[in-house]
Amino acid sequence: MSVDRRAVLAGGAAVAGLALAGPAGLTSASAAAPMATTQAPGFYRYKVGDFQITAIHDGFAGRPLEGFIRNAKLEDVQKAMGAAGLSTERLPLTFTSLVINTGAKLIVIDTGNGNSGAPTSGRWMENFKAAGFSPDQIDTILISHFHGDHINGLRLKDGAAQFPNVEIKVPEPEWAFWMDDARMNAASDALKGGFQGARRVFKDMPNVSRFQWGKEVAPGITAIQTDGHTPGHTSFMISSGGAQFIALGDVTNMPSLFVRHPGWHAVFDMNGEIAERSRRKMLDMAASEKAQVAFYHAPFPATGHIVRDGSGYDFAPALWSSAA
Ligand SMILES: [Zn+2]
Repeated sequence: MSVDRRAVLAGGAAVAGLALAGPAGLTSASAAAPMATTQAPGFYRYKVGDFQITAIHDGFAGRPLEGFIRNAKLEDVQKAMGAAGLSTERLPLTFTSLVINTGAKLIVIDTGNGNSGAPTSGRWMENFKAAGFSPDQIDTILISHFHGDHINGLRLKDGAAQFPNVEIKVPEPEWAFWMDDARMNAASDALKGGFQGARRVFKDMPNVSRFQWGKEVAPGITAIQTDGHTPGHTSFMISSGGAQFIALGDVTNMPSLFVRHPGWHAVFDMNGEIAERSRRKMLDMAASEKAQVAFYHAPFPATGHIVRDGSGYDFAPALWSSAA
């Protein structure tokens, strides 16, 4: 039996009637509170072994659902969004970066949109500071890939570098691709923007070095090859005190689409086939090892576990904890 709105409203009226007949002397507050226009600062802390991770929210941008997935019908994508209680018209793209405190070092993974993104984004620095950090405390910034929503926080639109004294480490294959002049000259107009964006951010930035996949890039943090989304896209495996954690980056976008349907190819995946291979490999590893994961584009605080569900997977978000 399904309960319709009318039955619920009728039941509600009965309950309200009872309340009216309740103890005398109770009055309801009648002052109208003004609508607030801001949220609490967007940060959230959790433990991975002996490390403390703080998720930092950079905000969101919306994009039409139409054309977002290359190899699925719009009605199937709308069905998946509807099943997750999400809009069937627009996709909310959220941005969540990570700060990892190892006890000895402060490591940041990806830096948000800076002031180059949607007006509802660019909250990273404000939230980072609200979490009690300051840029001069950072030892290392690790970059997953060179899309603007991950690197534009390194340099503002006016050219000001935001972290001139911090070691910035980027994936070697990502650097090799986007800094290749021949590739840029041969690129489509749509892709040229990506080349120009990467050069705008990293040009004359002396504190940048490159790392290889499979290497430890910071204490307890190893770079993992998860290409396809971009040619050098990298995830980070974090190990501490026997706990395993994977910062997946853009291995999947919105989990209710791509964890449920790992075979779907987002329009942002530069090579859909390779991205799918990386996605299946990482979802399988996370489910098998019961490793906690973080996504860059999942509902905040963008962390939880991957569980097997039939022939696919599901994302089980971590519960909010009042303990840091
Ligand atoms: Zn992204």
